[in-house]
Amino acid sequence: MIELIKGDITKLMIDVIVNAANHSLLGGGGVDGAIHRAAGPKLLDECMSLNGCKTGEAKLTHGYNLPARYVIHTVGPIWRGGDANEPELLSNCYHNSLTLALNHNLNSIAFPNISTGIYGYPKQEAAQIAVNAVKAFLAKNAKPEKVLFVCFDEENFLLYSELLNSD
Ligand code: ADP
Repeated sequence: MIELIKGDITKLMIDVIVNAANHSLLGGGGVDGAIHRAAGPKLLDECMSLNGCKTGEAKLTHGYNLPARYVIHTVGPIWRGGDANEPELLSNCYHNSLTLALNHNLNSIAFPNISTGIYGYPKQEAAQIAVNAVKAFLAKNAKPEKVLFVCFDEENFLLYSELLNSD
């Protein structure tokens, strides 16, 4: 089941929230900063032990002070004009995060709009890739049962509303 909400991903009581992190996994701006602030310093301690993360890959930590039990840190592609494999890398973020959730038996997962902030990915294209990747995964796997798209800005919320209501 796919659901759409507008709001702050750090407030969700859910099995796992996904962080749009950077290679270092040592925190940053945007949703990454918000997640680290809400989780507290133990999240950074655990992230420091992970040796970073490549673009499109995903790593799991505990949620610490967050209402979510776990955080999956994934690194979206920086938009470089579209000829640098950005679509596949962005799709990998969703696929690999869902695979990690499945392997840890997690039933509910929330995604922010990866790469559409500081990394500059065009929102319409990013939303289409996100929806396609999640639908493809759910068609083949029984878990996670619930996937939430969490939009922080109105533009993304409207784009996802149109995509998800067009079936
Ligand atoms: P990236 O570097 O991958 O672009 P950003 O954090 O800059 O990551 O932005 C990714 C998306 O996360 C943007 O659409 C931004 O509006 C959104 N965002 C920022 N803060 C939050 C939050 N607290 N909850 C959910 N989404 C957020």
